[in-house]
Amino acid sequence: MDAATPLAIEIVALTKRYAIGIAPAVDQIDLRIASGSYCCLLGPSGCGKSTTLRMIAGHESVTQGDILLENRNITRLPAAARGTAMMFQSFALFPHLSALDNVAFSLKMKGVARAERQRRSAELLERVAMGHLAQRKPAELSGGQQQRVALARALITEPRVLLLDEPLSALDPFLRVQMRAELRRWQKELGLTFIHVTHSQEEAMALADTMVVMNHGLIEQVGSPHQVYNHPSCEFVARFMGGHNVLQTADGPIAVRHDHMQIASASASGEPPGLPARITDIEYQGTYALLGLALDDAPPAMRAVSVLLPESRFLSQPFELGQAVRLSWDPAQARALGPGAQRPAPRPPQSASLKLRRDALAA
Ligand code: ADP
Ligand code: MG
Repeated sequence: MDAATPLAIEIVALTKRYAIGIAPAVDQIDLRIASGSYCCLLGPSGCGKSTTLRMIAGHESVTQGDILLENRNITRLPAAARGTAMMFQSFALFPHLSALDNVAFSLKMKGVARAERQRRSAELLERVAMGHLAQRKPAELSGGQQQRVALARALITEPRVLLLDEPLSALDPFLRVQMRAELRRWQKELGLTFIHVTHSQEEAMALADTMVVMNHGLIEQVGSPHQVYNHPSCEFVARFMGGHNVLQTADGPIAVRHDHMQIASASASGEPPGLPARITDIEYQGTYALLGLALDDAPPAMRAVSVLLPESRFLSQPFELGQAVRLSWDPAQARALGPGAQRPAPRPPQSASLKLRRDALAA
């Protein structure tokens, strides 16, 4: 993202401390999210994703730092005045209300007259191809239709940024894959900025223009799915994204993708090059076979390694459990791993860049 890209959200030194004496849930994070992009906050449970999202939404107070929406400081604004809207897990529709009344609900809360809110809600339901089902209750709608009602309900306030907290995680796997394709399609069609929290690497990879990988209240890496998957910044990201072996070398830790590992039988005439290992597990997966191996000469935490072989390669030279092999990789495919995000030293409450911007805006 270059400096000219308009930003939907800018987060500066954002911190959330729920209680004195425990580590902050979010620790002075900085983040810039391009306008019209699909951003996924990704990380293990408890890493601070929902806290970050709720602070953007205005559902959680900010301990320190700032949140800007299209250059407007929204840190202290009430949720309804921010230009954000939230879509919740399983869509959280009111079961006793029709699709139309679900969509109209927030307008009713705002005191918009009945005819006006019905007109606007019907219009939005048309927009998400749900106009013909406006009188149905949520239980009479499919999962996909419910998602569209939830989307219309979030869009009725004309947000600039849609916030989604694990919207798909309570769905069965088949529906989840369908719904994420639909979310992605709507985001592109509406041209809105989506910020979507998930703990699923697969979901983030499928959806995101930009992935933000979080751990322990810090951001470990920001990048496109391709950048993050192919150049994990540190051991945490490589392990969390999956599909990589983390190996110790004389130059420090590296990551090598499972499908970039080379495996040779050790019993062939002459010892092939590579690290000695034994096959501990063989899993046929169709397109690929996944071999689990134990390195002979590695510390216990680094011993387990996986190799992903294309089916044809696996079938042409089958391996057996317990077999001794040699493992190697093309050094060009190895990624050096950095130390990971360091907990920052406390910064003054207001960052210099933000102060400059504020002064510029005030001038
Ligand atoms: P995630 O969404 O990534 O799973 P959360 O943002 O919900 O993580 O939580 C981050 C950390 O903050 C966790 O340690 C969690 O226990 C703590 N936490 C979350 N909400 C509260 C709260 N309302 N009060 C106190 N601690 C909280
Ligand atoms: Mg959460």
